[in-house]
Amino acid sequence: MERPVIVVHGGAWHIPAPLREAFHEGCRQAAGAGWAVLLSGGTALDAVEVAVRVLEDNPVYDAGRGSHSNSKGEVELDAFIMDGRTLELGAVAAVKRVKNPITLARRIMESNEHAFVVGDGAEVWAQTLGIPLCDPAELLGQPESTVAMPEDSWMPPGMQLPADTVGAVALDLAGNLAVGTSTGGTPNKRPGRVGDTPLVGCGAYADNAAGAAAATGWGERLMRLVLSKSACDLLAQGWTPQAAAEHLVAQLERRVAGYGGMIIVDRHGQVGLAHNTPHLSFAVIRVGEEMLSGTEVPKGLLGGAG
Ligand code: ASP
Repeated sequence: MERPVIVVHGGAWHIPAPLREAFHEGCRQAAGAGWAVLLSGGTALDAVEVAVRVLEDNPVYDAGRGSHSNSKGEVELDAFIMDGRTLELGAVAAVKRVKNPITLARRIMESNEHAFVVGDGAEVWAQTLGIPLCDPAELLGQPESTVAMPEDSWMPPGMQLPADTVGAVALDLAGNLAVGTSTGGTPNKRPGRVGDTPLVGCGAYADNAAGAAAATGWGERLMRLVLSKSACDLLAQGWTPQAAAEHLVAQLERRVAGYGGMIIVDRHGQVGLAHNTPHLSFAVIRVGEEMLSGTEVPKGLLGGAG
């Protein structure tokens, strides 16, 4: 049993070389912030919220500040949080004026009234819950026309654009699991489009009886496989997180021609990471080990599918 553990990601796509260091460093900072919470006895839920907030506040990623705009030039943000102790969850979608959608998702979860709230209704409720609204201009990333895209030929359909959503999974000292995700969605999406990120079981799932998982990538394809709940089901059947991550990412490509990545931690503190995109920015912190981090996951980093 290895506790605590935190794993974060900053998206799975083809990260252009000049951006890789910033993606890597942002994940290290976020994991470090979540780790500090866990070490001081904080809950996995607190740790994933803190880690995702750090990623949302970093304009490098497509979440919170720096989000991609939709086809009308507006930001529409989605986020999700889940507590593996109780299976309670909170989600928001298409919010335009909330700096840290992960925190709004958490407050909604804790309201015990609704679980998933979208658009204007979520913004009105945010204020009641004590979350001030911001100017959407503060959240807007670079115009899509200037997003630095790789020039080589790795460009499968649906992945021609950045996929730099963020997510975190954690296991705390008491053995509780949690997951959080946040995104600006895909660049130039139609207004009102929502991907897998805030959908329970698709972008994320956490269950103390199994593990916590988060997915990232081409949302329209990812959601078809309910990847994160599928990961927890495999863990409950005794799969290792690495075997589950590799299997599900392979299924994503084989069954639905999808591209993306997954991060998983199980209830024993074992970690799994996989992606079928050229890059996945990530960081992992475990007891007694140096932080593992990078912008791609080398084969065998976490012991292979075994
Ligand atoms: N899955 C996200 C979406 O489709 C994008 C991403 O992971 O970067 O909205």
